[in-house]
Amino acid sequence: MTYKVSFVGYVAQYKSLEKEIDAAIKEVLSKGDLILRRQVQDFEDTMASFLGVKYAVGVSSGTDALHLALRSAGLVRGDEVITVAHTFVASIAAIVHCGATPVLVDVGDDMNMDVNQVEKAISQKAKAILPVHLNGRLCDMGELMKVAQKHNLIVIEDAAQALGATFDGKKGGSFGLAGCFSFYPAKLLGAAEDAGLVATNDKVLADKVHFLRDHGRRGKDELIGYGFTNRLDNLQAAILNVKMKYVPRWIQRRREIADFYYNELSDIPDVKLPPRSDEHFVDVYQNYVLRVSERDRLASYLREKGVETIISNPIPVHHQRALGLSHFHLPYTEQLAKEVISIPLIPELSDEQVEYVIQTIRDFYIK
Ligand SMILES: *Cc1c(COP(=O)(O)O)cnc(C)c1O
Repeated sequence: MTYKVSFVGYVAQYKSLEKEIDAAIKEVLSKGDLILRRQVQDFEDTMASFLGVKYAVGVSSGTDALHLALRSAGLVRGDEVITVAHTFVASIAAIVHCGATPVLVDVGDDMNMDVNQVEKAISQKAKAILPVHLNGRLCDMGELMKVAQKHNLIVIEDAAQALGATFDGKKGGSFGLAGCFSFYPAKLLGAAEDAGLVATNDKVLADKVHFLRDHGRRGKDELIGYGFTNRLDNLQAAILNVKMKYVPRWIQRRREIADFYYNELSDIPDVKLPPRSDEHFVDVYQNYVLRVSERDRLASYLREKGVETIISNPIPVHHQRALGLSHFHLPYTEQLAKEVISIPLIPELSDEQVEYVIQTIRDFYIK
């Protein structure tokens, strides 16, 4: 169906950058620059300086970024990695793919990892914490880094939803040993297929990710181990280089739309709004997630009126039988799974569309 207000804006975004993107694609294809060429290097340089880290390594997806970062950090079978269930499954899958064991903790009111729960979950086998900066808001990295240092744990950040978000002025993805990003098309910065990046200040980790993403190769002929085909595609890097110039503007617009929502929806008793940016947390609003009690009814009402919404994880990851995580009891996560609904927030929305979303939600509650 065609929505009056849709959740993603792939076509609108392409149309607004059509000439630049077409030119970038043509340059790559006409020169045959397909694998690990200048465009990848340029993108990595831009990202390292945007994030304020020494090294950025382009890889094939956000999941691969997490997987390679965890492997490069030396995690092996038997090691425990503490993370959350209130996330996209990839955060947990990456831990399992390197043979380690996920230990899931509950989240707090900000829908991010509850740092108090982390301390309780640390066992002898704990090696790392994998905080997920969900919806474009960072975890409480001040407290989290303290806990990690106290217990000598590695921190690998899942920053797939948090490009540009800050805590006390520092960018998400730059706190831990590594920060992992996704450029899946629906993310704030999206490629035209899967793409990702590992950010780090650690030369040894950056080197390992470099080898692992490209078959374990060092230079042309030497192999330093078995690796993967996890390179960032050069054509995607060319597209990302074009789009990256607009990211600050897009973040600005996202914040503007979020402000509209905060101002116009805060008086509805049944609607709990996401936490607001303040002097510590400056968010980028990858998603704008409401919590409501009549979630499914609201979703179908909005759909009827032409507003597309998304419900992430209606079945909490630890309740997915096939994954073998059902021994975790996470009451707050389970509660959120029943209440959350993401409403459209993309920079391409017009003010009129945002007002329409607001009015439609208000109409639902006034009836
Ligand atoms: C999108 C996402 C990922 C995975 O990224 P892909 O590029 O799709 O592999 C991981 N974690 C979170 C929180 C995400 O939103």
